[in-house]
Amino acid sequence: MNAASADYGKPLPARTGLTGEFYRWCALGELRFQCCEDCGRHRHVPRELCAHCGSPNWVWARSSGRGKVFSWTEVVRPLHPAFAADAPYAPVIVELDEGVRLLTRVIDCAPAALEIGMPVELAMTQVSDDVWLPCFRRSGD
Ligand SMILES: [Zn+2]
Repeated sequence: MNAASADYGKPLPARTGLTGEFYRWCALGELRFQCCEDCGRHRHVPRELCAHCGSPNWVWARSSGRGKVFSWTEVVRPLHPAFAADAPYAPVIVELDEGVRLLTRVIDCAPAALEIGMPVELAMTQVSDDVWLPCFRRSGD
């Protein structure tokens, strides 16, 4: 474990298979989602086939990084001890302009300040030498 991982102190995402590809794009500062080459729909979490049309044909399409708060919950008593110091915090579902929903965090925004439909923009956040998480911040829209 490197110094950055030790500082983060929380579980890191699996970085194998299609999920690994997703996080490798994040480490390059790019939020990308799979986009079906046959029906044009974006999807997340990464998977082999399009849930809409069943097509196995897709590409990694770069997201605008812009979206809005779809929903959230406030965690007061975390189940994992690594998150105890963060409480209360809000896991947030952001709906991107591409229609994809992502479970994430809105940084620098207390849970009480969140609003449904609040515009947000990508704030890629490094948590270890090779892991960047697609977090968001309030945007001026
Ligand atoms: Zn499709």
